[in-house]
Amino acid sequence: MIPYGRHEISQADVDTVIDVLQNQFLTQGAQVPKFEKTVAEYCSVAHGVAVNSATSALHIACLALGLGKGDWLWTSPLTFVASANCGLYCGAEVDFVDIDAASWNMCPVKLEQKLLKAKAEGRLPKVVVPVHLRGEPCDMAAIGALAKRFGFKVIEDASHAIGGSYAGQKIGACAHSDITVFSFHPVKIVTTAEGGMAMTNSDELATRMGLFRSHGITRDPALMTHEADGAWYYQQVELGYNYRLTDLQAALGISQVQRLDAFVAKRHALADRYDTLLANLPLTLPTRAKGNLSGLHLYPVRLQLGKISPSHGEVFDRMRAAGIGVNLHYIPVHLQPFYKSMVFTKGDFPEAERYYAEALTLPLFPALTKAEQDEVVAALTAAIAP
Ligand SMILES: *Cc1c(COP(=O)(O)O)cnc(C)c1O
Repeated sequence: MIPYGRHEISQADVDTVIDVLQNQFLTQGAQVPKFEKTVAEYCSVAHGVAVNSATSALHIACLALGLGKGDWLWTSPLTFVASANCGLYCGAEVDFVDIDAASWNMCPVKLEQKLLKAKAEGRLPKVVVPVHLRGEPCDMAAIGALAKRFGFKVIEDASHAIGGSYAGQKIGACAHSDITVFSFHPVKIVTTAEGGMAMTNSDELATRMGLFRSHGITRDPALMTHEADGAWYYQQVELGYNYRLTDLQAALGISQVQRLDAFVAKRHALADRYDTLLANLPLTLPTRAKGNLSGLHLYPVRLQLGKISPSHGEVFDRMRAAGIGVNLHYIPVHLQPFYKSMVFTKGDFPEAERYYAEALTLPLFPALTKAEQDEVVAALTAAIAP
């Protein structure tokens, strides 16, 4: 089976992890701050707070922004459940803003309309989480302008987008957001096995996220509410968690980031090739906006179901039977039974639902060969035939 995504580990990656294992601290050593500095410098942002997953990064980002009971978090319905669950972890309510028909990202026009309505009803969101689906940057200038006008905070879920750029700045620079979150799961662009990082230009948010990452405990007298008992003293000033990344993982991450630009370039070359090979099939292909650079985590296509006889499900099954590990990103979150049990129902976010009815993610990862890619194209051509 050709998977939809796969990590790539080099000998340098292996060597660096073995060095940590044999010679250094396994956790809470020098590798984690070094990894944070490496990624922050890459993105031209002031701070990176490394954690054990993007899910944890989203959680501490929400906590640092003060999200809690009685607050609202809005995100795209077309995302992984973690982008929404972080709101529920904090006791907040979650709602969604439908996607744009062309980019498949949160639509800024629909966001504005929903904000005007929410303002009239006195229930504006505290936090909005745009998701750079596939790695394709959201319209951050528009979202950032709305954040200023309506007074909400922005967390970019950039789990798909490290290595990309928006209007000449790296994703993670937080030019139009308070915090940007990356994922280092093996299917994503660079990996630490499990892992994530929250980027920010705010000293205060970085400090608060650092506290929430590690039990809410500090040894910094400036952060303490009471005087230290002695030199041994640490103080718990928040209810935090253990969301720490290990030094083994951080060392792997530092080594992987050296190849980040090469990984993204390889993904673009393969996507260009898909664009050409698939151009004449009854498909809607993923677009890439000029002036931005997608991280290109995913290459989803949409079946033009009116022009083919097999159903969406039949095409999916035929691809799997042909050894192509296609996937579907994503089941709209509001249609998950867990979320549906709140207030949501089919029809709430029709553009995301239309996407869900047609989409199919094709394999895309740096080590995908041209021969494998040809196999995917041949299998898809056969799968959509009567
Ligand atoms: C993968 C992913 C996450 C969660 O990442 P983890 O590191 O696995 O916790 C969150 N949001 C999106 C959009 C993702 O794709």
